[in-house]
Amino acid sequence: MIPPAGDVDAIAFWDALDRGTLLVTACSACGHRWLPPLATCPRCAARDVTLAPAAVSGSLYSWTVVHLAADPVYRADVPYTVGLVTLDDGSRLYGRVVGVERAELRDGLPLRVVVGRVDGRPIWIFEAA
Ligand SMILES: [Zn+2]
Repeated sequence: MIPPAGDVDAIAFWDALDRGTLLVTACSACGHRWLPPLATCPRCAARDVTLAPAAVSGSLYSWTVVHLAADPVYRADVPYTVGLVTLDDGSRLYGRVVGVERAELRDGLPLRVVVGRVDGRPIWIFEAA
C-alpha cells in the first residue's frame, strides 16, 4: 500500500486509526470539522485545532467507480467504489465503499465507518449501515 504522508500534523490521526478510532480535526474558533488533519483550520485559518473522535455513521454524498487502481494492493479489486461521505458530525471524507451493490448507490445512502487493514496498515472503510 502506498504509505500515507508522515507529516507531524497527521501522526496522532494515524496512531488513533491504528487503534481503531477515526479522528477528525475540529476548530475551536469556528467549529468546523475536517479531514485530512491540518494544523490550521481551512475555513477560518485559526490554529487552535484539536483532534476528536469522528462520527461513526454518515451518508453517501457522491461516488465513483475505480477501474484502474493507482495503488498496486488494490489492483486485484477493480472495479471498486470510492465514495465521498458526509459524516453525521458534518465532516466529509473519501473512502472505499464495500458491501454495497453498484445499483444500490445513491445520494444519501446511510453508511457506517469501520476501520480495516490493507497491506498491514489501518484504513477507514464505509459499509452499508
Ligand atoms: Zn475555524
